[in-house]
Amino acid sequence: MPIQERVKLRELSAEDRICNYNEISLGLSEKELEYEANRCLQCKKPSCIKGCPAGLDIPRFIKLAREKKFNEALSEILEINPFSATCARVCPYGFQCEGSCVLNKTGRPIAIGAIHRFISDYGEYQMKMVTDKDKIKGKVAIIGGGIAGLSAAYELSRYGVEVDIYESRPVIGGLARACIPPYRLAREVLDREIVYILSHGAKIKNNITVGKDITLTEFFNIYDYVILAVGASKCWSLRLPSNEEDDFFAYSAIEFIENYMFRKKIFDRTLKILIIGGGNTAIDVGRISIREDLFPTIVYRRGKEQMPALPKEIEEAEEEGVNFKFFEVPKRAILENGKFKGIEALQARLGAPDSSGRPSFEIIEGSEHFIEGDVLVSAIGQEVDSEVLMGCDIHLERGLLPHDFGGEYEDKILSCGDAVSGPSVVVKAMKNGLEVARDVIGRLDKRNP
Ligand code: SF4
Repeated sequence: MPIQERVKLRELSAEDRICNYNEISLGLSEKELEYEANRCLQCKKPSCIKGCPAGLDIPRFIKLAREKKFNEALSEILEINPFSATCARVCPYGFQCEGSCVLNKTGRPIAIGAIHRFISDYGEYQMKMVTDKDKIKGKVAIIGGGIAGLSAAYELSRYGVEVDIYESRPVIGGLARACIPPYRLAREVLDREIVYILSHGAKIKNNITVGKDITLTEFFNIYDYVILAVGASKCWSLRLPSNEEDDFFAYSAIEFIENYMFRKKIFDRTLKILIIGGGNTAIDVGRISIREDLFPTIVYRRGKEQMPALPKEIEEAEEEGVNFKFFEVPKRAILENGKFKGIEALQARLGAPDSSGRPSFEIIEGSEHFIEGDVLVSAIGQEVDSEVLMGCDIHLERGLLPHDFGGEYEDKILSCGDAVSGPSVVVKAMKNGLEVARDVIGRLDKRNP
């Protein structure tokens, strides 16, 4: 049987998207959904499920979508993913379910992400508490109101556990709100999912920094367990020697993005932004800069093929006008009376693979040259912001939280999400939040049989 063409996913053109933050992907119409859902082979051994970090029963929700049972399909998805509409927008499908779809080898995998998005947008969100006999008694504090913390709160409150979420920001949603640009995830979608999650009973305590406003010891007097879900929101600092007396510190990419998302600090239009790094965060800074009438250039030490950013993100950034300079390594900052004017960079080339199998880069001696810029942004990696844990006597391991706390905290404190794994995709933080919540539910259940 010939394999039908994959539905063409409609998106805003580069021209239509660079002057606003509207979602780029336009989703499927009902007709397109019907066509695409009918292409699914309903495999007996569906390889797509193996590619989904959440383990969603993909053929099942596609079948329900075919039958136009969107409410039922969404209810089943929400059992294992409370951030359904968010994941449907931000998951890298090509590397997950669609990459594992049996039709991928024909170049026409089912557009699972688009079907998932349709169900999440058109299905009805229904409360999903467990029955009274399965309810568990207990009180849990969750520190951090991002994807992992909210997912943990969802699972615990569904089981009747009393949950308080402590968030240092004035708004909830963590890095998903502060750093995923709305052209990928509209804020009303995130808000809708958070409202749904909180409708199960968890309470929010905003503007409270643990360690500063309340100590962990105080928590233990009130709560049975504490879950640390503080994310990895601090950029590795980039410090360069300069042509003047002092070293120069680059601006943090996370701070840059957050300032624009919350309209806190805005640079003068037309400034040249030099972004050091090659991951998705560097791309986000570049694409936000384009929308703010700035002139961004991403400076990366390897080539385009070695960039850790998603290929689609790189492609869209190029379409939108982000400039790229490959095989460039910053050597020092060039200042004029303390004001940043650009960097002196060295050219690089690929070398032998390093221990991870990735090609290393070699600097070409004597290749110094000048790259002009007004602002230098560092997007070279992230870690846990230790300020969030000020006074908690918790020590980070390579910038991240340990799984096991031991000592006086043994059995009462657990951690999850990016704070443990390092920056990762939303779906993994979500899953880890649910897993930690299930662990706590098991412990509470044993304590109060
Ligand atoms: Fe459908 Fe592809 Fe999954 Fe098979 S592997 S059930 S074709 S989505």
